[in-house]
This record gives sequence, structure tokens and C-alpha cells, in this order.
Amino acid sequence: VEWTPEKGWHDARIEAYGPLSLDPATAVLHYAQEIFEGMKAYRHADGSIWAFRPEANAQRMARSSKRLALPTLEIEDFVQSVFELVKVDQRWVPEASEGNEKSLYLRPFMFASEPFLGVRAAHHVTYMVIASPAGSYFKGGVKPVRIWLSEDYTRAGRGGMGAAKTGGNYASSLVAQEEAYSHGCDQVVFLDAAEGKYVEELGGMNLYFVYADGRIVTPEVGTILEGITRSSIIELAGKLGYQVEERKFAIDEWRAGVASGEITEVFACGTAAVVTPVGELVWEGGSLPSIPAGGVGETLRKQLVDVQFGRAEDTFGWMRRII
Ligand code: PMP
Repeated sequence: VEWTPEKGWHDARIEAYGPLSLDPATAVLHYAQEIFEGMKAYRHADGSIWAFRPEANAQRMARSSKRLALPTLEIEDFVQSVFELVKVDQRWVPEASEGNEKSLYLRPFMFASEPFLGVRAAHHVTYMVIASPAGSYFKGGVKPVRIWLSEDYTRAGRGGMGAAKTGGNYASSLVAQEEAYSHGCDQVVFLDAAEGKYVEELGGMNLYFVYADGRIVTPEVGTILEGITRSSIIELAGKLGYQVEERKFAIDEWRAGVASGEITEVFACGTAAVVTPVGELVWEGGSLPSIPAGGVGETLRKQLVDVQFGRAEDTFGWMRRII
């Protein structure tokens, strides 16, 4: 779908997948004015195909578009665009079984497609959706991720783009991600830009800390990406009787909580892995011992996955039928 100030959104079409032809002066290539979403379509045992909270992705994309000076897509248009693509050929949505969480990954994205070298919001914008079958995130069972604490790089500052799902955030995190890999870690954890003191999120997942007394703490929103999984877990955990606190969470609280045994479990969540236990935390010259993967994350993971694949009742009304 194309957008110009004169015509608004127009020229919606479905085309065979293939390379794009872009003018070398296309604004997005220079100034990174782009946003995207990540979501999945799930096939249930009866063959029907469902999306998980697509309106939440639509709303997040609308918030991202405001931050990146891009035009906003109506919630219904976003949802319809994704559904229409899935309907083109539903054979791309894999059959899944318990323990084999195959799905169709969907990637809506919007970018400044105007050839223009001046720095200003583009006057021609393109919105697209592509899709790709995705296998289980974990091959051979859920395993804890080892986390690298980034002390040199931050992801987002106040007034910045941290809450937007935009490529620039990922570009700025790549060097820290490489650092994580070189230290044998799977993911990087970012601290806040202002004080370098508060835990924000992983490269692609939100974090949760479980206390022995039944409290669960997750870093507050503002500069982090508001994960759809994160907010689903807040609701689910509340229903299961946990007291969820959304607040600033200092890295020292993580260290002290693990050392004293008050923190019994740490887990991360996102669309790709749903929930993954967090094992060892590693930084330059030190590390925090791994605590065992716990029952809370596992319970929440199972409940979410069962709802997504139609094996448990959708008590929150999260699922939307596509076909
Ligand atoms: N934080 C970041 C930086 C991410 O890229 C993602 C993945 N979209 C998340 C958190 C988790 O968000 P969601 O649950 O919507 O996938």
C-alpha cells in the first residue's frame, strides 16, 4: 500500500514475493525512517488459522508511526492487511503439535520510499507485509539463555525511540549483540541511558524477575519496547494470583536478589520464544551464577502457547480467527 499527503493510503495490492527496485536516494536508506511489527499466525488442530492480539500490534505500529513521523494506518486496515496475506495461500501456515510450535511469522513494515536527500519526513511512504514459516524457537526443548550485560552501549534514552519498533534501535544494538556473542552469550541486556543503573530489556525480549514471596517485577515502560507478550504475561500472572510490579528495576537488585535467594527465577518473553528462562548473567570481569529455570515462567509459557494453538480456553479474548 502506498501513501502520499495528497492521496492518503492508496494502491493496495498483493504481489508475488520478489526484490524491490529502489532509487539510490530513497529516504529510508539514508535516514532510517521506518517501522515494523512481528507477529504470528497459528494453525489449530481443526485446521482453522488464528492471530494472537493483532490489534495490539496495530496499536503499537500506530504509536511507532507517530514517533517516526510516518502516516498512521487504521487498526482495521492493519489487521486486514495481515489477514489477507495469510488467506492468499493458507498452506504456508504449518501444522503444529505440542512441543513443536511451528507457525507463520508475519512482518508488517512501513518505510520512507520517497527519493529525497533532504532531511524531512518523507512524502511517499510504502507499507508492506511479508510472511515466512517459522519453526520452534527452541530445538530440543526450552533452554536458559545466557545474558551479556552491556555496560558500554545503551539502547534508548528518554525522548528517544526506545518504545518504537524501528530499525534504528536494532542497528544501535548490534555492536552490543556482537559483544554478547563473543562472550558466549545468547542475548544482551541493556541498562537505562540516563544513569546506567536500571535494567531495561534484552535485544529482542522483555524481562521478568520472580521473588520467593510471589511478587513478579518487570521494568516499567517508557524507553523499552512494550512487548505484546509482556502485557499478556502481566494479565495472565495476575489471574494466577501473582502480584506484578511494573517499576524501575536496578541491576543491583538483580545481583542482590540472586545472591540472597529472594529472586528465585528470571525469565524473558517475546513473540519468537514466548517465554525463555534466563540463566547466567555475565559482564566484563564478572558473572552472576545461573539460577534454575523455574515453574512460574514454565507455567506462563505453557498457558500462552496453549491459548495460541487453541489447546486452552481463550479466557482473555486474545485470539482472532483468520480462516
Ligand atoms: N523488546 C524488543 C527490543 C523486541 O524486539 C521485542 C520483540 N518484538 C520484544 C521486546 C518483545 O515484544 P513482543 O512480545 O511484542 O514480541
